[in-house]
Amino acid sequence: MKIKTSTISGIIANETNRMTPIPTQQLFEDLYVIQDSFANIFLIKDNKKFIAIDAGINPDQIKQELTKLGISADDVKTVLLTHSDIDHVNGLSAFNKAEIYLPKAEVAMLNKFRITMTETDFNAATQAYSDLNQDESMFGDDDYWPQDDMQITNHSPHQLISFMKNKINQSFKTIDDGEKLHFDQTSIEAVLIAGHTKGLTSYIVNQKYIFVSDGLSLQNGYVAPFNKFLTLDQEQHRKSISKIKNLKGFDYIFTQHYGYTGNIAKAFENWLD
Ligand SMILES: [Zn+2]
Repeated sequence: MKIKTSTISGIIANETNRMTPIPTQQLFEDLYVIQDSFANIFLIKDNKKFIAIDAGINPDQIKQELTKLGISADDVKTVLLTHSDIDHVNGLSAFNKAEIYLPKAEVAMLNKFRITMTETDFNAATQAYSDLNQDESMFGDDDYWPQDDMQITNHSPHQLISFMKNKINQSFKTIDDGEKLHFDQTSIEAVLIAGHTKGLTSYIVNQKYIFVSDGLSLQNGYVAPFNKFLTLDQEQHRKSISKIKNLKGFDYIFTQHYGYTGNIAKAFENWLD
């Protein structure tokens, strides 16, 4: 069975089209954001170098966006990954000089299929996205999804189709829940917020910012769960949102796909634990 790459792009686009990433810009004196299609990368200025939160999707796009800000990819000395999903790790090759950290519980998630559908659902998706006009496929121009990144299992009464294996080709260190890292002018604490994936980790930076990645979405300034289809454990995900609500020591919450807020009281106003 050959699966057209555009079908997979369509399935993903159905989720990502709802996302509201921040356009590339300098947000604060010590914080920059890069938009790589539907995902954001944040860059914290530390002395004359940068610490990146996540690595985005497309290395070429990332380099282009960095140029707009006058930042060289080689000045990124550290990349802190929040989890192992493709849209957070695929851009790593843009950051050749960086030391990379992956949350410990994400190591077990590497090289695993991330999306599994029944053949019936898959055929419906193929139909639904047959007319989809992808200007820029996140997976390049391949006509067909690579076979080694796909698995078909006979699972009565349906076939199951699995795709989107996540991988990291660079060497990395691991970081554990509660671990603290100290840089020239920056101190960072890792806080596990599992649910979207097993090891999804947020980073609290300088008692000022928290980067929660896919740990929640923001809708008109209010916290809501992340896309259901892309979340592995809904119950754990909700518990982790309540965990973030009860955390202290930051003035801003940044997500990787749904912008940011500086009004934390409002953000959690309607959130029921
Ligand atoms: Zn994501």
